[in-house]
This record gives sequence, C-alpha cells and structure tokens, in this order.
Amino acid sequence: MLRISSFNRAVRVSNRRYGHSTVGKRPVLTETVQVIKGESGDFTSKLVSKVDLFPGQVLASLEAMTPTDVKRYSTVQTGPDSHVELNSDLLYMNHSCDPNVVLDTDFGVVAAAREIKKGDAITFFYPSTEWDMDQPFQCWCGSPKCLKHVRGAKHIDSKTLNQFALSRHIREMKKEQV
Ligand SMILES: [Zn+2]
Repeated sequence: MLRISSFNRAVRVSNRRYGHSTVGKRPVLTETVQVIKGESGDFTSKLVSKVDLFPGQVLASLEAMTPTDVKRYSTVQTGPDSHVELNSDLLYMNHSCDPNVVLDTDFGVVAAAREIKKGDAITFFYPSTEWDMDQPFQCWCGSPKCLKHVRGAKHIDSKTLNQFALSRHIREMKKEQV
C-alpha cells in the first residue's frame, strides 16, 4: 500500500513552476487517461485509463495543481487548512470505497493502488484527502466496504478509516480529533 506524506513540498514545487497564472488551464492527459462525459453533466462523467498499470505505477502527475483558499467540490485537501485545484482532467476521478488509485500530493502523482486494466474507471477514496467535504453525497460504489454516505474523514470512525490508504494530514487530524 502506498503511503502518502508531506504534501507541502509538492505544492511548493508546483507554485514555483506554475504560479497562479495557470489557474483555469486544464492540460489534457491524453497519454494515460480519457474523460468519458456523462449525459447529465460533470457529476456522471468519469475518467478511464487508457493503459494497463501494475500496483504502484504512476498514472498521472499533479504538475498543474495550484493552491486555493476556497474548498470546493473540485479541490483536493493537502493539509489541515490548505487545498489545491487539480487544473486537469483528473478532476473527473470519481470516488470509490474500493479505489484503484491513490492521489499522492507528496510526490505529486496519481498512482495505481492495485492492478488497473485499460478501460477501467479511475477512482480514489475522497476521504483519503478530504476532512470535511464541501459537497457530501450518497455512495453507490457497490463495494462491501461502502460507506454509503461520504462526508469526509472527520465523520468516519478511526477503525473504518484506517482500512484505507490515507494522506498524512488526514491521519494526523484523525489522531487529534476529540
Ligand atoms: Zn461506496
């Protein structure tokens, strides 16, 4: 299982390389992933792998991410009070309670959590980065481990949460939660 830690370095690197001028820019990751648009807009769209991947292999880099003060459905949390916009098609990664990728902002990558076949929908576990989500939702992923109501790590008991690969800030925030 991949371990996620220290998001700050990746964010600093991203700032230095891209500044704020790339906000809104969406590099298309044509090499490895493809967005399949749903009929009723963004919320039924999905991201599909164009390649076979073995566990730990990198699917995409997070080079375009930029810090933001505002928590939105499109942001990823990188620390207790910090969030980033992905600024890429990775925005279309859906949640699953049995995810096939880990979003690792320490190394600035999305990596396979298990074997992925070409054509598989790319999913990650939103509470692995999100403490208290801006837009909670009902999950129908079908996994035996399905949380049913996804609201962020804050709302999941430690025993359940620790079954998943978690980012460092989530592990630390859970430890400190009273
Ligand atoms: Zn689920």
